[in-house]
Amino acid sequence: MVQKQEFYRQTIQEAATSLHTDPKRGLSAQEAERRLWENGENRLPEAEKKSVLQSFLEQLNDPLIYVLLAAALISVLLGEYSDAGIIAFVVCLNAAVGVLQEGKAQRALDSLKQLMQPRAVVIRDGSEQEIPAAKLVVGDLVCLQAGAMVPADLRLVEAENLQLQEAALTGENLPVQKQTARLSGKQGGRIPLGDRNNMTFLSTMVSAGRGTGMVCAVGLQTQIGKIAALMHESREETTPLQKKLGELGKFLSLGSLGICIVLFLLAIVQKRPVFDMLLTAISLAVAAVPEGLPAVVTLCLALSVTRMAKINTIIRRLPSVETLGAVSVVCSDKTGTLTQNKMTVEACFADQKLLPAERMNVKRNRDLFLAMLLCNDAQIEKSRVGDPTELALLDFGARYGFEKNALGTSFERKKENAFDSDRKMMSVLCREQGKLTWYVKGAADRILKRCSQVMVWGQPVPMTQAHRQQILAGVEKMAAEELRTLAFACRPYQEGEPENMAETNLIFLGITGMRDPIRPEAIRAVADFQKAGVSTVMITGDHVATAFAVGKKLGIVSKQSQCMTGEVLSGLSEDDLAGHLDEIRVFARVSPKDKVKIVRAFQKRGQIVAMTGDGVNDAPSLKAADVGIAMGKGGTDVARQASDMILTDDNFATIRRAMEEGRGVYENIRKSVLFLLSSNLGEILTMFAAVLMGLPSPLQSAHILWINLITDSLPALALGVDKNDGKKLMGRPPRTASESLLANGGLSVICFYGALIAGISLTAFFTVPYVLMKQEEADFSIAVLAAFLEQKKVLKRAQTYAFTVLGMSQLFHAVGMRDVRQSIFSRRPFENRLMLVAGGIGFLLQAAVTELPFLTGVFETLRLSVGEWLYLAGLSCFPLLAHELFVLLEKNGTQKPMEKFGRDAYESDRDHERAA
Ligand code: ATP
Repeated sequence: MVQKQEFYRQTIQEAATSLHTDPKRGLSAQEAERRLWENGENRLPEAEKKSVLQSFLEQLNDPLIYVLLAAALISVLLGEYSDAGIIAFVVCLNAAVGVLQEGKAQRALDSLKQLMQPRAVVIRDGSEQEIPAAKLVVGDLVCLQAGAMVPADLRLVEAENLQLQEAALTGENLPVQKQTARLSGKQGGRIPLGDRNNMTFLSTMVSAGRGTGMVCAVGLQTQIGKIAALMHESREETTPLQKKLGELGKFLSLGSLGICIVLFLLAIVQKRPVFDMLLTAISLAVAAVPEGLPAVVTLCLALSVTRMAKINTIIRRLPSVETLGAVSVVCSDKTGTLTQNKMTVEACFADQKLLPAERMNVKRNRDLFLAMLLCNDAQIEKSRVGDPTELALLDFGARYGFEKNALGTSFERKKENAFDSDRKMMSVLCREQGKLTWYVKGAADRILKRCSQVMVWGQPVPMTQAHRQQILAGVEKMAAEELRTLAFACRPYQEGEPENMAETNLIFLGITGMRDPIRPEAIRAVADFQKAGVSTVMITGDHVATAFAVGKKLGIVSKQSQCMTGEVLSGLSEDDLAGHLDEIRVFARVSPKDKVKIVRAFQKRGQIVAMTGDGVNDAPSLKAADVGIAMGKGGTDVARQASDMILTDDNFATIRRAMEEGRGVYENIRKSVLFLLSSNLGEILTMFAAVLMGLPSPLQSAHILWINLITDSLPALALGVDKNDGKKLMGRPPRTASESLLANGGLSVICFYGALIAGISLTAFFTVPYVLMKQEEADFSIAVLAAFLEQKKVLKRAQTYAFTVLGMSQLFHAVGMRDVRQSIFSRRPFENRLMLVAGGIGFLLQAAVTELPFLTGVFETLRLSVGEWLYLAGLSCFPLLAHELFVLLEKNGTQKPMEKFGRDAYESDRDHERAA
């Protein structure tokens, strides 16, 4: 068996023979196909899914449901079968709705996983191609580069300064240096995983360098596949909002339990039928707790995650959806995010002159072109693969007849120091006809510091201060034109020179100026962020002058003083830096390490920070940010693993759309919560007020549970998936991180509408005895009303009235809650179809219990006439009428009735404009 072999003990050739592969050309496409068919995909098994029954039972696993089921049991014992039946029906239907919601959320998250499938670069038939990592087979030749996740267990064939971060497997945090020679091990004993330095393992990360390796194990046969515990790891994260709701839920449970106990005790004092009141109190307790809310929240978040996938955003952690809505600072890379990452060389500084790209002298600048092509890992011949900066250099060379492939045969790369964003340069040692030369390219200021000579008219001459001034002036000129500058240098290799000499004592060759066009949509996004109270900060490794020119065009900065360089930044403490953050909007020539400092300094000022990143070294800052955003196209696996969300189009403007979505989700969840709590409060107040007045209970336990069924699921969900006006959402400042759902007027909305719903329900309840009282010309008093209600028929009708109004008013209330500051007539009627469905079903269910003879028996209700229906519908409209009245008063500007109820919920447009 191939998998049992110890490949690390074999030479590359022996291992290749065992694996039946070619260590240079890899497998043929046909052979790879055959092996895939024979051995299956390179996947680890996923944790088992819950069955429908399991999730159904989980829905019932709630203390309140136990109480309810106990009540049902008692009902059966007492022979109250209809009560027991209703309880069982409501409990089961609620659980079924929960299962459906959970299933939908799970499907949304599963489809997201599909989008996040890892990919791998393989060499098949001698050419490189990118394939899904699942399609890798034993024997495939895989390319590794800094930032990549290792897609299978590999026996290394090539390792150029290759370092691996293997903490996922060995727990060791320090990077491990890899090599390719066979290992023998002490006295032939087993070599521990961490010491097998000619192998790399699935799920570990390349922290530096480059390499290739032959796949020797896939899927379950890999080292990580053998660790069962890791395989089934499925962490379910609760979002901060879910935690907040959990706490609110606990508070409400206790509160409502208290109220119900009081209600029950009162009933005993008033000598009411004990069992009836117990059942009513329990039902009220159940109704008062919005137990469906966590499911609504998960579904809202999950659905939003699917919507986000459609706008090129993959959410890796659910909590980031809501955090996105609170982001107040967006720190973005420049290249590729704010710009298009489509580079073209437009100007060149050579022979101490700044020239347009078309006016190069090939003969005199041969070394410059050689540096561009040799110190370059991209390729454009067969297909365009590589970093856009390097591709642009190859295109530029090709314009003058320099082809990398043609050079490749006469130049052999002997050594290399890969590009890294901290050093901001790279170098290669090449042999041409026995002569070894170092070619270096990188940031102009860094290279210039290392040059002692300069190439003028094809001859190296000592570099003088005047040369330096000219070069720097050239850089400044290019930068002012938004060009990205890159300097080139070379040096003949000296026999026996130490390793660290490579990038010193160089001969300066020239500088290219590349245009990387700004994304027009990024300009709009920056302006939108400004309106939304969100600051945009550009963080770039580029030259400060280029950064300023680009920042100015984007509308991020207007003055040079708003830019800070990495050099200045490194001299400041986090606290000092925090003091400068009012003004600074561009950080230039920073290294990825500095990004963490910037994030922390903003956080110290109480800001919620989103940070973009793509490189290996960006991982710490992505983790430190409240929302770490990785690039899907140009980013590394390491950055993606560290991030909360991934932009699949690498586009800054996408962050704006995602943020709008994040704000919308929070808004919707808040609407659902306020709706549910105000409706539930309405039910509690109705019951409580009646009992306090010594009147019979306006609702039976079955009525309460029925209303709970109608309102707690569909209308709340309809609010959860409501469409929001993006302009409005992005026209106000972000909420603060600690903001409670009930803050900014939320509590007042609950109290006002709770009281209103109770008021109209009690009015409906009193209508029946009041009409009788009028007919018999009795004096009005509560005692008289109570006396009338003693008659069973009167009570039945009064309860039917209260039941109908309580249920229907909540449906109307839900419609108004879509936007507390906007008239329902100014919105398109079919915009929220789920709301229409919820309203329709709710109405039918409500009508069924009064109109269907079987149900009137079960619920002890009476049939209603058309006139009665109209009267009760009129009463039920009150929450919506109140809503419209507030909107109208607010619009006329005479009064802002809801202002005293809170700022945010009813904040007027004019306030926003002023704030902006
Ligand atoms: P951003 O941080 O916004 O993406 P950037 O691409 O300029 O901007 P880095 O990738 O850190 O940031 O690059 C910093 C500098 O290093 C660049 O301005 C350029 O001068 C130089 N540089 C970029 N790519 C290479 C490369 N492939 N080889 C050598 N030097 C490079």
